[in-house]
Amino acid sequence: MEFSQLRSQFPALSQTLGDYPLVYLDTAATSQKPQGVIDAMTRYYAQDNANVHRAAHQLSARATSQYEAVRSQVQHFIHAARREEIIFTHGTTEGINLVAQGLASQLKPQDLILIDSAAHHANIVPWQMLAKQTGAEIVPIPLTHDARLDQTAYRELLKRQPRIVALSHVSNVLGTVNPVAEMVSQAKAVGALTLIDGAQAIAHLEVDVQSIDCDFYLFSGHKMYGPTGVGILYGRFDQLDKLEPLLTGGEMIKQVSFEGTTFNILPNRLEAGTPPIAEVIGLGAAIDFLQSLPRAEIRAHEQVLLKRLQAELNALGGITLYGAHEDNVGAVAFNLTGEHHQDVGILLDQQGIAVRCGHHCAMPLMQTLCLSGCCRASLGVYSSDEDINRFIEALQSVKDLLL
Ligand code: PMP
Repeated sequence: MEFSQLRSQFPALSQTLGDYPLVYLDTAATSQKPQGVIDAMTRYYAQDNANVHRAAHQLSARATSQYEAVRSQVQHFIHAARREEIIFTHGTTEGINLVAQGLASQLKPQDLILIDSAAHHANIVPWQMLAKQTGAEIVPIPLTHDARLDQTAYRELLKRQPRIVALSHVSNVLGTVNPVAEMVSQAKAVGALTLIDGAQAIAHLEVDVQSIDCDFYLFSGHKMYGPTGVGILYGRFDQLDKLEPLLTGGEMIKQVSFEGTTFNILPNRLEAGTPPIAEVIGLGAAIDFLQSLPRAEIRAHEQVLLKRLQAELNALGGITLYGAHEDNVGAVAFNLTGEHHQDVGILLDQQGIAVRCGHHCAMPLMQTLCLSGCCRASLGVYSSDEDINRFIEALQSVKDLLL
């Protein structure tokens, strides 16, 4: 496929902002959506709109079969062993809360939870809530001076036999990649449950949950060219089956009386209420889109762009990069020396460049790096050399203005 043909599938990318064509470098916050995803959701609402799993009528049967087909699609996409191991949520945040709360009855005071000190708040706060409820203790795995998870310190912490190890696959701020398969195997050797937040990995890396061998893996549709409002919780069947449901109500029950309730079997047991049906269908179209691409080629293209981005930022001078490594994925974090990240973001926006500025929902990481915040430029399958040229030119002019 020609690159221009790929890019033209994203209608939002062809707009101009004032006099400037949009340069979208905020894919890590949310990706743009290809026309196929937009069409799949419109088609569902226009033709098949009905609730799933309930009615005898044909619209409901059509909606249900599309919804359930996406479950199998996700299963194959991440190489899960069983379709019942795929739970539809509203996003990564909900999924991690579901797991953390679902484990509450399995934890006791002083149990240890190891977390990633570069994690997004979504993989910190739910564990804090769980620790508060159960008396468990949270210990962050420290970072090395070059902002990777410190593997020596991790191995030392494992000697304390944690009950849970919660990691990010890829940091949403720095783009650093954790060696999750190796870390999971070490955690399993001491009997810990493992959870991987894959929100920033899923659009860039081929994810195989069986080869990572984790107990739980989570991601959001909107960061992989799908819609907002849908996410996936993958869980190993026996572990999912032991989770207490976070939400209760319709769909997730087998039998209800005023005397008590019995729950449904997986996956329904963890999907209470009307699910995000159109969004699940949109997620299916996003997977179709990703699978229509030569993924190895696209990954190589993204890596070349990322290295160029890192190199050109370095060459610009007056820029500090954070945790920039050759094997990073998708994002680069930086500041213009002595300038506030928000000012830089606003001045870039005035030239049509969309980057993210702030603490990126990773305040503990910002504290470790002694920063109030930073700018982040992030890439997607549609990012081009021209995007990088325009970004670097714009940043040069911001630098000329401010420094
Ligand atoms: N984890 C990571 C690493 C993320 O980047 C994000 C989104 N920024 C989340 C979790 C939360 O995802 P969502 O807001 O879709 O629930």
